[in-house]
Amino acid sequence: MTEQHPSILRTVHAMDAAGGAQAQGIVQAQGQAEGQGQGHAKGQAHAKAEGQAATTYAHNTCRLCAPLGAALVFRGLRGGMPYLHGSQGCATYIRRYLISHFREPVDVASSSFSEDTTIFGGRANFRQGLENIEAQYAPELVGVATTCLSETIGEDVGALVREAQRARGDGVSGCPALVHVSTPSYAANHADGFHASVRAVVAQVTRKDGTRSTKTPDATINVLPGLLSPEDLRALRRLVAAYGLRPVMLPDYADTLDGGTWDEYQEIPRGGTGLEDIRDMAHAVGTIELGRTLGTEDGETAGRFLLREHSVPLFQLGTPIGLSETDALVGCLANFGRKDVAQEAVLRSTRARLLDAYIDGHKIASRARVVVVAEDDLAVGLVSFLEEIGAHVVLCASGGRPGRLARALERLGREGVKSMKIMSDTDYARVDEACDALEPDLLMGASKAYGTARRLGVPLVRVGFPIHDRFGGQRVLHVGYEGALALYDRFVNALLESRQSRPKLGYSYM
Ligand code: SF4
Repeated sequence: MTEQHPSILRTVHAMDAAGGAQAQGIVQAQGQAEGQGQGHAKGQAHAKAEGQAATTYAHNTCRLCAPLGAALVFRGLRGGMPYLHGSQGCATYIRRYLISHFREPVDVASSSFSEDTTIFGGRANFRQGLENIEAQYAPELVGVATTCLSETIGEDVGALVREAQRARGDGVSGCPALVHVSTPSYAANHADGFHASVRAVVAQVTRKDGTRSTKTPDATINVLPGLLSPEDLRALRRLVAAYGLRPVMLPDYADTLDGGTWDEYQEIPRGGTGLEDIRDMAHAVGTIELGRTLGTEDGETAGRFLLREHSVPLFQLGTPIGLSETDALVGCLANFGRKDVAQEAVLRSTRARLLDAYIDGHKIASRARVVVVAEDDLAVGLVSFLEEIGAHVVLCASGGRPGRLARALERLGREGVKSMKIMSDTDYARVDEACDALEPDLLMGASKAYGTARRLGVPLVRVGFPIHDRFGGQRVLHVGYEGALALYDRFVNALLESRQSRPKLGYSYM
């Protein structure tokens, strides 16, 4: 197993070579872990030690910005409005990515820093922005996330939020509840911002007085799904319901970011996790938290908070991609012992069809050389799936913190991980360079990997976020037995199509 930590200095804007460069506003920041506090010179020395050019920049990073993850979480709360404390450009950048993937209007508010605000602080802008949001959107909750600028000038956003809560009431008398999360992009990526926001919502909204809404039934279970597609969220809801449980999914943007048509424009789309349900998460029968890294180094997750503060039993599992990770989730649900016999028969038959498909396609799938580029939790889930179908993952890369992906893959305990090249905190330029020697047959990743796939002349199976060069990114199903079946069909067919396009005959028979 080899790990590269290629860049100590990097851009925090995702420079998008394939989909329109965001050349402006490139911010350089010292890297994390190895690079933290060690500066630029260490970065150069490190790069040289691994035989790379001593580049001090990143090009087309494998990461997006941290408040984007926060905006996604706040969009998955009923009546939730994301509010960025910083300059307007950050909200525009985030909206661009969310809209191109989900194909829905996505409003993201901003306190709209100017030069003056940057020097003297954004308190007045923050208060004015909050008033405007309340007047225009009448939200149930406003999720305040910081940006690089407000973090860099040392703005105490927590104090601003507390001041507003004292002055206006929080979630009472028609005032929206306020949640705040720190999301500096020079220290975190979109997945980190996502997980930090889930933690913040749980820590700041769950009921502290031990009371419980009378409406919450006993068989309620908390599901913290991680950064998945709306289609995945729907599939998880069905799976949990098949065991007679009522899921409180946090966040749940299945309807808010992939809903139906509207007769009238909805400023905040219907759907999302209700505030009452979040307050009652402290009384659920358990919490299922999906993802093997959860964007944290210290292990502090929303599930751990509920366990520590409210004694809610916690089940931490991998993102359920493929047979074995889905088996683990199903096994966990079955432990609650409320299974619906008819639903369980459906599950069993889907699992059997998945196994049958694995057997039918093994001649094509096995030993295929695959490169995976995704955020950490999705990457680990994909490797688990690819290992069980006999594919050979030659490179697994992410834009996450150095070492985190390697540790999570190691814990997966799969044989193929030992010989796999692993790159963290990386960019597509370096992935592209590494691919030359690795000669993959196929890439799995988001749209940003298309440049590499095209140059190599190999297919890209689009997964994760963002998918903005194909239609239906929000409906890509990754999880559960059905998700594995869909992924497997796409994977095998992409390989077949690639082989078919090469010989003169132009035909391939399976
Ligand atoms: S928060 Fe930072 S990385 Fe994100 S858009 Fe704003 S400046 Fe760029």
